[in-house]
Amino acid sequence: MICADLLVFESDNLIKFTDLALDETLLRAIDAEGYSTPTPIQADVIPAMLAGSDVLGIAQTGTGKTASFVLPLLQRILQNGKRAQPKASHALIMAPTRELAAQIAENIANYAKFTKISVAVVVGGVKPKPQIRALAPGVDIIVATPGRLLDHMTAGVVSLKQTNTIVLDEADQMLDLGFMPTIRKIMGQLPRQRQSVMMSATMPPAIRKLANDFQNNPVEIAVAVVSKPIDRIEQSVQHVPAAEKRAALTKILSESPRSIVFTRTKRGADKVSRHLEGAGISAAAIHGNKSQSQRERALAAFRTNDISVLVATDIAARGIDVDDVSLVVNYELPNVPESYVHRIGRTARAGRSGQAISLCDMAEQDLLRSIEKLIGARLESVNQPLAEAIKVTERPKKSKPTNQKFKSSQSQDGIKSRRRKFKSKPKKNSQSSDGTPSPKDTVAGLNRMLANAGSTKRNNPHHRGK
Ligand code: AMP
Repeated sequence: MICADLLVFESDNLIKFTDLALDETLLRAIDAEGYSTPTPIQADVIPAMLAGSDVLGIAQTGTGKTASFVLPLLQRILQNGKRAQPKASHALIMAPTRELAAQIAENIANYAKFTKISVAVVVGGVKPKPQIRALAPGVDIIVATPGRLLDHMTAGVVSLKQTNTIVLDEADQMLDLGFMPTIRKIMGQLPRQRQSVMMSATMPPAIRKLANDFQNNPVEIAVAVVSKPIDRIEQSVQHVPAAEKRAALTKILSESPRSIVFTRTKRGADKVSRHLEGAGISAAAIHGNKSQSQRERALAAFRTNDISVLVATDIAARGIDVDDVSLVVNYELPNVPESYVHRIGRTARAGRSGQAISLCDMAEQDLLRSIEKLIGARLESVNQPLAEAIKVTERPKKSKPTNQKFKSSQSQDGIKSRRRKFKSKPKKNSQSSDGTPSPKDTVAGLNRMLANAGSTKRNNPHHRGK
């Protein structure tokens, strides 16, 4: 068994979202995300922000910090009820990277989906004109990286004169990236009467000073990241030809009820679900093509044990929080290695133990290696890796998946059929048929989360591999 760190939060607080005086539209969106209870940082930051206090939060990615500042911000905009004036905005969120800004905007879109709140993303590296157009009529929230925002401010494209809430996310990273002078210039343009929120994973003196300079008697909230299942998730890989995956899955599931099976695509999820039903294992698929009510029904049936297996794509599985899932099966390995960590985190919840089995065919060897690289350990193989037959380790490093790769081992048995399968190898970083955007666009947060997990790992002898 190998163990990998996951950064997750344990819901040991007793506060419910409904206790937090949030608008019904926000509660509905929270429900749609599948969140059952606020994370510790949410339980503390949401009431403090709703009370109008400045907040200095010491929290890392993985703690639920984004929703902790986005939800009260949305609530206050809803309460205010006024439209932003042209070229102005009610709130500004600054993030150190484009990826994080995009991810925050994505979160806002999710939590504000039952409202009319508007968001503009203002980041560098892309054409400014669409941003100028988006800012012109005025928006409720701007999510920005500092450099491009200051450019727009200097050019008179946007004014912060009416921005009465400012959030600095990952302030310590902004410091590391040399953004402090730009941030100080931007902060200088904000009204004196405002709410300032700062989130930082660490609190170096420069961040403390920034807080002293720009915040007014902030409520300080620190949450430790809880590193969880590690010792409680038994991970392994089973090397199987693609054509034998279904049979392997049926065998695994007949021995282990209450499982979540992950596929890469929506069609794949439907197919696997149908196959399981045909094999007498009650299952339902959830993915982006299913309506909200279908998804909710499937989840409810899973929760109440009316079905024993949920077949899910990565996006649809976000927020699945069912305590007694004993097994996660990766029927197909994810294109994005970070998704592996999210997937296996669906088991071993609430202090229980769990198991994660990955079915890996020839075409997925590279994906497996990416996962192992990310978690810093080799997954225990329960059988002979197919790859050994074709001496994967002898392959030239950056060659394309063409027949040439196999030249050195073409005389080996079965190589032709394997070669055909390898040709259909999923492209890394490509858009999946689930609509999963390129990892560059959305997984920055996960990258950081995993980076954090890595730092925990280093101190733990369990994480040096087998
Ligand atoms: P963050 O720390 O904001 O990057 O959030 C980490 C992950 O936790 C994201 O995938 C969120 O969708 C998820 N999340 C945030 N709040 C909750 C909650 N109350 N319950 C379950 N998941 C949550």
